[in-house]
Amino acid sequence: MISIVGIGPGGYDDMTIRAVNAIKNADVVTGYRLYVELVQELIGDKETFCTEMRGEVERCQKAAEYAISGKNVALISSGDAGIYGMAGLMLKILEDHPEIETEIIPGVSACQSGGAVLGAPLVHDFAVISLSDLLTPWSLIEKRLEAAASADFVIVLYNPGSHKRRDYLRKACNTVLKYKSPDTICGLVKNISRDGEEHSIITLDRLKDTPVDMLTTIFIGNSQTTVINGKMVTPRGYQL
Ligand code: SAH
Repeated sequence: MISIVGIGPGGYDDMTIRAVNAIKNADVVTGYRLYVELVQELIGDKETFCTEMRGEVERCQKAAEYAISGKNVALISSGDAGIYGMAGLMLKILEDHPEIETEIIPGVSACQSGGAVLGAPLVHDFAVISLSDLLTPWSLIEKRLEAAASADFVIVLYNPGSHKRRDYLRKACNTVLKYKSPDTICGLVKNISRDGEEHSIITLDRLKDTPVDMLTTIFIGNSQTTVINGKMVTPRGYQL
């Protein structure tokens, strides 16, 4: 049995009870080292198998081996395992093992937890786009940014940059600026639900020149998004 568990953004309080129980009931817990460390208290002295970044295939193959040998495995992913997480890869790796039972336990994704830190930016239609071009060509990322910006979606950016991809956010903002005003309200949230959580609300024009890292999620408002008492709010259209 493999439980593919979304552990939420980081803090225990932001995990679902199902996620907590799946980890408690597992014989072995596998995941990216940082996430396994985040839930170490729940894991206790259970067996673990951790890999570093880019060790995803190895991690899932190992999870499959454990399950085939009869163990209860919890494969953990940050946020929701089905949103830029391990769920798809794990199911693919198990394609030839339909006898292995799987369950996917949803978690609170960074767009939800980060949105809550900022206020209510996702009250209207939104698009989620990852700026990581490790597995997706930049030309396709750009096409999706254009489509979302031209349709005035609120846009949430995951994987907005790293030391190797310093100028990606600037490139993305320049694409979005073809359709959205430089005054568009934007929010950044870093280390959501973890030590060192920070957030800020700025304009799209300023976002373009803001340094970011992989632990940040970005929210670009739509043309109606505003700031109310320091919170980023996208209106739904109610008349007051
Ligand atoms: N499955 C995860 C997303 C994994 S992709 C989820 O559903 O949240 C990794 C990206 O998610 C990061 O680059 C960042 O943009 C975002 N992210 C995940 N956890 C975060 C956190 N605690 N704080 C800020 N951003 C986070």
